[in-house]
Amino acid sequence: MVSRPDLAELERPALETALEARGHERFRARQIFGWLYKRGVSDVAAMTDLSRELRLTLSSDFTIATPALAHRDTSIDGTEKFLLKLGDGLQVESVFIPDTPAMTFCISTQVGCAMACAFCLTGKMGLVRNLTAGEIVGQVRVLVHATNLHDTPFNIVLMGMGEPLHNYNETMKAIRILCDQHGFALPARRITLSTVGLLPQLEQLAREPLMPNLAISLHAPTDAQRGELVPINRKWGIAEIIAACKRFPLKKRSRITFEYVLLAGVNDRPEDARKLARLLQGVKAKVNVIPLNAAAGIPFERPSDAAVDRFAKIVAEQDVTVSVRKSRGRDIRAACGQLIVEGQKKSAGQQLAAVAFQR
Ligand code: SAH
Repeated sequence: MVSRPDLAELERPALETALEARGHERFRARQIFGWLYKRGVSDVAAMTDLSRELRLTLSSDFTIATPALAHRDTSIDGTEKFLLKLGDGLQVESVFIPDTPAMTFCISTQVGCAMACAFCLTGKMGLVRNLTAGEIVGQVRVLVHATNLHDTPFNIVLMGMGEPLHNYNETMKAIRILCDQHGFALPARRITLSTVGLLPQLEQLAREPLMPNLAISLHAPTDAQRGELVPINRKWGIAEIIAACKRFPLKKRSRITFEYVLLAGVNDRPEDARKLARLLQGVKAKVNVIPLNAAAGIPFERPSDAAVDRFAKIVAEQDVTVSVRKSRGRDIRAACGQLIVEGQKKSAGQQLAAVAFQR
């Protein structure tokens, strides 16, 4: 059986072409986008302002793949974690973080992750597979519907499972669909892409017409330290990443966020803070300090609040903007780095193969 194409996988121009090829008007694509994204409808039969004939064509020629909500956990702080089941049975996690001050959805770009950062549980899974653009946007469709936020502005952070720049094309396609004026119509500045800093893709991102905010997972001020925590640093070091950040085209007043997970006794010393601040001189930067979210299987400890404050204060004294990320959803293991789908982990051998991916 030939599988039918997925409507929720198509950018609007592609949908217009598909409609035209079937003898329908191109502008119907706007209506379909409105149903799929603005109104959260995932059944062609419910798209009542389309002709019966067009609905029949759509149902016979296309599917609409929507991730199924397999489980939902609510934290005492209001954060919600969603386990979503994809078409092939694999699962990803996505998180809703209310009032921070905006509503924020934390979305995954891969099942698992190949980056193997030393303090991240998703990294322990290895890369299972890339998500498609439809599956990335599908998480937003499901979460907006589940939280009933159709009429509320929201932000998206690509900080769930996976490394977005390691799934470059589908991530960028998802961003284009999310920003389409006839769908969610999300302004690109409401999307933040967080990355370990894969250099070629970072340079490609700098040339994109639609530009999300950029967050770089730095975590250490020297290559020796960062190489231990973020293995990909052995391929593209700190100097190259910082140079790429300095060249990155930023809008007026906007800045690159540098995420820095604080690990007790590892990268939280005063000298680390001073080195970090020195490194970022001349970069339009803000530092986001993230006290480690500890979990079984993560071989590090969360520093004391006093150590966190001391670190942030030293960075701030060097005229670098700094904030401390408040952890949300720790009681439901929805905080940064705690997303893992048990039973989907790869064997150690497969993980190594995934880490050694080519340029
Ligand atoms: N792969 C991308 C996006 C996903 S991770 C990236 O690395 O940026 C999102 C953020 O959570 C990253 O800054 C990551 O380093 C951080 N993180 C991972 N594990 C964590 C943990 N256990 N505690 C706190 N933050 C963590």
